[in-house]
Amino acid sequence: MQAPAPRIEATRLYSDPNTRELLRRMLTDNVLLEPSIGADGKVHYLLAEAVLGPEVDVKGWIGEMVEQAVLRKASSRQVVMCPVHLRADPMAMVECVKCRAKNSVKRSLVEHTYCGYIGDDSRFDKGGTLQCPNCGRPIRSQSELRVSGVWYECQNCLSKTSSPRLVFLCKEGSHEFNTADLALVTIDAYSVNEKALVELRNTLLLDPELAAMLAAMGYEVSAPARVQGQSGSVHSLDVYAKKDLETVALQVAVDTKPVDASAVIAFFAKTFDIKPSRAVLVAIPAASEDAKRLEAGYGVSLVEDFDGSGVVRKVKAVLEGAGASG
Ligand SMILES: [Zn+2]
Ligand SMILES: [Zn+2]
Ligand SMILES: [Zn+2]
Repeated sequence: MQAPAPRIEATRLYSDPNTRELLRRMLTDNVLLEPSIGADGKVHYLLAEAVLGPEVDVKGWIGEMVEQAVLRKASSRQVVMCPVHLRADPMAMVECVKCRAKNSVKRSLVEHTYCGYIGDDSRFDKGGTLQCPNCGRPIRSQSELRVSGVWYECQNCLSKTSSPRLVFLCKEGSHEFNTADLALVTIDAYSVNEKALVELRNTLLLDPELAAMLAAMGYEVSAPARVQGQSGSVHSLDVYAKKDLETVALQVAVDTKPVDASAVIAFFAKTFDIKPSRAVLVAIPAASEDAKRLEAGYGVSLVEDFDGSGVVRKVKAVLEGAGASG
């Protein structure tokens, strides 16, 4: 016995329309949740903030999605942050190791690979275009030059160094910190977990199609739905539809192998309490023999479909076949 628990958990996760919309966009636009640094110096996930709304804790949301294996870390980077304010937008500067002035200029020694001339890079600059001061040939690509040395020269005390000291100016309180003080903080980009893809495609694409079909048949539809049973317990369903006295409970079970009997039992546990006129369980790619054996006894109609493309048509046929009797 396994499988129904994650599905129930996932249904709860996806019951928030903004969550569904964000995941749907990530899937259909094939985009990652990428971190960026905002004007406040903090890490933001702009797409998530825009879709989930300002009142949602995006990092908490991501944490929950990762925990439920809906999202996974796609890449990680370490960024420099102020150790006090945890802002990731410090201004980096080169500081003179002798006099601590911050007005060093960068010099490099450059070789023209064509003629072998070596000189200060400023000597190659001929009024905005690059030209060799020795042979006079214009420099058309970076590959024609080889950098053979780089150093920093303080404009204040004229001392030179090839290993400069970096200092950072925090935007909050204008205080400085150096490479010994700085905080390195991991920021991650997230993608939809491959393992959740099938499930998501179903929830984000198939469920809305089923809901639309039922609405077109004149039902009042909730998808996903939370329905109170006769016991008082509230049950989650992918789709719940109502027309006059007729009610339809619909659940989609997706697996990599034929959906087993536990999916029927888990669905029956809900429908036994909700008592809909029709209970339809969609099994993708198929229903196992055990599941089929339970079908009649549990009052559940099983609809099998290999890849989900025929589900809407088949469910419609089941409902129409039921007639008005229910
Ligand atoms: Zn700071
Ligand atoms: Zn200096
Ligand atoms: Zn040259």
